[in-house]
Amino acid sequence: MFLSKKYDIIIREKRGAEERVFFIDPLFSSAPALGLQNVPVTILPENFEPVILKYKDYILSPDFERDAREILRECRACLLGCGRNRYSDKAPCGSTDTFLYCDPITICGEEGVVNPAVKIPIAKPCIIACTTCLFDPHIQGNASVPLNADIWSKTRDICDKEPVCSVEFCGKEPNTELPGIIDFIRNYPFDRPIRKPIVWISNPAIDLRIYDILDTFVDVYVVDCKSDSFIFSFPIDWKEYVRVCVRAIERVSENRKVIVRILALPGCFNKIKDLVNALLFLKDRIFISVIRYIKPPWKDLKKPYDKSISEKEITKIEEYIKEKGFLLATEPENVYIFWRDILNQRGGK
Ligand code: SF4
Repeated sequence: MFLSKKYDIIIREKRGAEERVFFIDPLFSSAPALGLQNVPVTILPENFEPVILKYKDYILSPDFERDAREILRECRACLLGCGRNRYSDKAPCGSTDTFLYCDPITICGEEGVVNPAVKIPIAKPCIIACTTCLFDPHIQGNASVPLNADIWSKTRDICDKEPVCSVEFCGKEPNTELPGIIDFIRNYPFDRPIRKPIVWISNPAIDLRIYDILDTFVDVYVVDCKSDSFIFSFPIDWKEYVRVCVRAIERVSENRKVIVRILALPGCFNKIKDLVNALLFLKDRIFISVIRYIKPPWKDLKKPYDKSISEKEITKIEEYIKEKGFLLATEPENVYIFWRDILNQRGGK
């Protein structure tokens, strides 16, 4: 369990007889926090309308599959951008049409604004394979099975029983699993929808047309950005990496809520500055979250990644980001701002 800071109730807002209560805790833990005292929860209205409902007709039509296949015929869904045909060639990421998953779990992840979440964990190795990856070995070790429609009913069961905020695709790299996920999306229970935002946590895509597909079912993008490009399993120049991140973030923030998640590695303050400065023109459209690098205890890494980042460095990074006018997705007072449009329109629980 990796614990940063803890907050209790952060907003308690009364509107007539209605009371909306928000809790937040930037807790990173695979232990279900539900059932504990002071559960970190962001509560959205029960009648929340996920974006997938707007695209029902398109998703169920043959056009959806045709358009998706067209884009994936020269796949540049992940940072490798290999350009293979996902429907006939062997992809270097090892992905096929089958999306392997582990059973959904409830989790409080890094960004409190979408906590707690039902996570649908991807159970496959990731082509990006950062040396600093902290993928939880106990999830990785679970037996994984191809995704099927049954997972939606399991997800709904959790949503019915627990005060979860969102449904997240997470772990490894969901962009590489797009073909299988597209099939899964077509099995969404439109007749009895799960009224939670769908959160897509991935590295930036090279081909921006990927987001045309994702926009049909994703409510919130969490774009995973690193603070060093040396950690990837394939070479990318840092400037080029920043350019790819900015392009993707500009695209997804056109019409969706976006959290830019920056993994803060030790000694990478200047690189984070590069990225933050390059995103300045989007500061009114995005939230940033700074994720602490914790050295994976089971890995033997060279300097500077042989130790976790210090709180001093984190404070310096967060102060810089705030000075530049960005809002942090991990700060309690920003929960309401993040969901303001939804809460104002419909009234919270
Ligand atoms: S997801 Fe990445 S590695 Fe896999 S086929 Fe697409 S671009 Fe290539």
